[in-house]
Amino acid sequence: MPTPIDFNRLDIRWRHYECHCGSGDDAYEVLDSRGIYLALGCPQCLTDRLSGFREDVLYGPTYVADEPIEPEADNDNVAWGMDV
Ligand SMILES: [Zn+2]
Repeated sequence: MPTPIDFNRLDIRWRHYECHCGSGDDAYEVLDSRGIYLALGCPQCLTDRLSGFREDVLYGPTYVADEPIEPEADNDNVAWGMDV
């Protein structure tokens, strides 16, 4: 099952014309996380077109920001306590 495309996290540029797939929706140009062109289409046909791309290509390496960062002050207390 393909991962649904999160268009809110994509770098998209509105192209001011209808998509050629016949959906009647506006077409968008999709750029990857480094600003490189990936695909052109409306949300309906882009879901198919973008399903082959890896998430980190589409959205950038956001997994780093998703990791909780432990406060340094707590690390000292835990480390010393475990040794005793
Ligand atoms: Zn389309």
